[in-house]
Amino acid sequence: MMSTPTTRPCKGPRRSVVALALAACIGSAGAAQDGEQPDSARPAAARNRITVLYDAFGRDASMTKDWGFAALIEVGDKRILFDTGNNAEIFARNVKAKGVDLARLDFVVLSHRHGDHMGGLNYLLSVNPHVPIYAPRENFGVFGASFPGDFYRRNESLPAAMRYFDGKPPETLRFGTPWPEADFRWVATTTEVAPGLHLIVLKGTWGVDLEVMEMSLAIDTPQGIVLVVGCGHPEIEKIVAAAAAFKQPIHLVLGGLHLLPATDEQTRRIATALRDTWRVAWMAPGHCTGEPAFEILQNTFGARYLYAGLGATITIGAQPMSSAGERAADTSFDLADRQGYRELAGTGADLGENLHAHAQPRPACPRTGMP
Ligand SMILES: [Zn+2]
Ligand SMILES: [Zn+2]
Repeated sequence: MMSTPTTRPCKGPRRSVVALALAACIGSAGAAQDGEQPDSARPAAARNRITVLYDAFGRDASMTKDWGFAALIEVGDKRILFDTGNNAEIFARNVKAKGVDLARLDFVVLSHRHGDHMGGLNYLLSVNPHVPIYAPRENFGVFGASFPGDFYRRNESLPAAMRYFDGKPPETLRFGTPWPEADFRWVATTTEVAPGLHLIVLKGTWGVDLEVMEMSLAIDTPQGIVLVVGCGHPEIEKIVAAAAAFKQPIHLVLGGLHLLPATDEQTRRIATALRDTWRVAWMAPGHCTGEPAFEILQNTFGARYLYAGLGATITIGAQPMSSAGERAADTSFDLADRQGYRELAGTGADLGENLHAHAQPRPACPRTGMP
């Protein structure tokens, strides 16, 4: 079933239901770690966290590493699946290894059309065929499309047999998708899909796929925005700038920052800008961020760098923590981890060679005037 595209635009910052729920949860239960408990056994009060279900590095031996990204986001009373990884079988294995029940989701966010983020969609639909799936609206994308029936120029002098639809086109023309049964909800512009949950839609302005539209999820929490990014094609600073328009500060950034093709110098500049210009408090990079960038971000953010490898659970709250926190002194890759990530990175679908846009200076934040 195809739903009407979502059109409600985002408004300015406000204290959201999510923020209130988070405040209540954090106040009563703290940000306790319980990443090892199965999904069904977790107390509701502790469910303010993000669990990485798909990535090419990680320490959880019960899970399978592969190039791609997926995460379960639990905030307030909402359960959100963000992306579905690269391969349906591996996604299914990893979901089961973490005891995640995909039948219980409020909605799904597909960040963009690349295979390493939606490869698990068939498995998701086999478990939860009717779940609402937010996907970026594209003209002729894989998520389907809808055009007015009169989108083409007409020639009314032609005989009916030479005219489209005999000269009487339907009011709306729908274009197909490999998942016609899925409840896709196209998002054309940045939209608040639930109180305090903003989907930021931007075009991927550099790399190998310049037309790709990508969505990031900005979660309004009492401490600021928690920003979940799939692949960072629109450039991480532009995504952060868009999130900062909802609320300051940016409390946590988690996911793929797409710094794989960046030089160390470019990466250091971006890491410093994220910390000092955009005031990102906590950093939990994964996926296409890249090994050199992992190290540079770790050096830049210090104790505020959170390990977000496959299987890690990051708690959301005043003091975010990673379930890998018991090894906080060793948040960098071990040798085997690094080798596997490199092998998978060499076959990844998101390896842009061109980083021209990253060399451009960033404008000041329009809301705060921060340099
Ligand atoms: Zn990717
Ligand atoms: Zn991508």
